[in-house]
This record gives sequence, structure tokens and C-alpha cells, in this order.
Amino acid sequence: MVHKVKAVVAKEKNAPVSIETILVPEPGPGEALVDILTCGVCHTDLHYKQGGIGDDFPYLLGHEATGTVSAIGEGVTEISVGDRVILNWRAVCGQCRACAKGQPKYCFNTHNATQKMTLEDGTELSPALGIGAFAEKTLVAAGQCTKVDEDADPAAVGLLGCGVMAGIGAAINTGDVQRGESVAVIGCGGVGIAAIAGAKLAGATTIIAVDIDDNKIEMAKQLG
Ligand SMILES: [Zn+2]
Ligand SMILES: [Zn+2]
Repeated sequence: MVHKVKAVVAKEKNAPVSIETILVPEPGPGEALVDILTCGVCHTDLHYKQGGIGDDFPYLLGHEATGTVSAIGEGVTEISVGDRVILNWRAVCGQCRACAKGQPKYCFNTHNATQKMTLEDGTELSPALGIGAFAEKTLVAAGQCTKVDEDADPAAVGLLGCGVMAGIGAAINTGDVQRGESVAVIGCGGVGIAAIAGAKLAGATTIIAVDIDDNKIEMAKQLG
């Protein structure tokens, strides 16, 4: 059965986005269908709309989402129908050299869902960051789902899939912040404050937040 759901689509470069009916297939092998509860709005969605990421219009926007698994395809064992999940950009293979070494972040063979979601006329959609969650339902590779606590606020945990991971990862992985170091974060938007939280988690003792907006500085203080 193909599901007809409403979704936010950027049909062409710089045109206003529109709410369209899209067709979402039942999950095939290794795929999962997710009913979206919440989805954040990220600057990357604007980049897609402006053509700054590619020219594969129409784009199905949205990628910072929390949802409930409503169907799984053949061979999916790590998640079940009813699980509360957040979505990540790509699934890792679990078998390549990097995955075997316990470093899935360097996986050589990441993937998204194989089947395509389409507009009603059959035009294939390009899901933003392989997710496309400004929709009532989306189709992803099962490995893109990460189970979360059902008691967590869906609007908050969905952000872990993009801005929070980008900022905390920048501090802990890219910046390799060590205990006792001092760190300056320039720009305290969603990613910046997550970098501050990451620096704090890593044990930085002095964290300098730089921004021209007093409200953002206030938020930065709360996070580290
Ligand atoms: Zn994002
Ligand atoms: Zn791999």
C-alpha cells in the first residue's frame, strides 16, 4: 500500500515552498516507515530551497525529526513498530573496515532508503539529508532510526539528529577539546550552543561565547 500524506516541498530554486500530497511506499527490505511527530527547522532547509546544496529539485524538506515507527521492511531487527525514534542522515553498513574497527562515523558504505517517495504525478522527491521529515510520514533506511525514551520531549530530542550533534561533535571530535582547556565559540545559534555544551562535557574550564545578540549569550550561559 502506498501512503498519501501531506509534506513541505521545495519545487524549484528560490520559489516559495508548498504543501503537497506525496506518495510514500511501504518499507522494503532494510527500510522503515516513520510517522513524524515533530521536526525542527534548520538553516540547511533554507540552503536546499535556495539551491545551495544541489539542483535535485523537488526537495522534500525537514531533517531534525522525532517520530514513531509505523512499519518495518523485511530483515529489520533493530527497531520495531511503535518505537519512538529520532532520525539520522545516513545508515552505516556495519560491515566495512571502518565499521569493523568500531568507527562507524567513517563508514565507507552509508545509505538511505532505496525506494523513492514521489509527488502524485510520479516525480521523484529528493529528501533533505536523506530524511525528508516535513511530512506526516517518511521512508528511511532502518539504520537511520535511533531509539529514544518515549518520555523525552519530541521537539527537543529531534534536534539531536542535526544541530546538537554538529555542535557537540565539533567540540569533542573535530576540536578534540580536552579537560582543563579554554575554548571560544564564535556564533551562539543552535550549533554554537551545542558546541558550548560539548566543550563543557569534554571538561573545558573556560568557555568564551561570542555573539552580537544578548538573548543568545544568555542561552549560551545556561548551556555551559
Ligand atoms: Zn540541520
Ligand atoms: Zn560501514
